[in-house]
Amino acid sequence: MRRAEQRIESERVLTMAFVRHCLECPKCQTRYLIGFSPYVNGSYVMRNAPGSGAEYVLYCYCRGPFAPTLWKDDEVKSYEVSKKAHDRGFGAPEEIVQIRYNSADSMPLDRRELIRSILADRARH
Ligand SMILES: [Zn+2]
Repeated sequence: MRRAEQRIESERVLTMAFVRHCLECPKCQTRYLIGFSPYVNGSYVMRNAPGSGAEYVLYCYCRGPFAPTLWKDDEVKSYEVSKKAHDRGFGAPEEIVQIRYNSADSMPLDRRELIRSILADRARH
């Protein structure tokens, strides 16, 4: 009974989470969902600002309008975003969690796959 409840709870949490690209303010650690600018706390994100050489420019309320943070497209990371933070468009690190791909987990699989393809290739010759 208790275990079933826990399972439902974790499923609920999973279906309520969104995966989005976010920009994190290096000072206050607030994470902003791209595409939700301007934000209700006064921060905003500009895309392809002329002369910046960056894909995204974040103006966080904590640093003011003269201290932008710049991101190139490949520096933007994926985050798991809670429903509440998603509605708001930004959130704290507890609400918006960076997704880390565990390379130690995926490595043996990749290696196995590599060996299999080498062996298959050899068998052909
Ligand atoms: Zn900030």
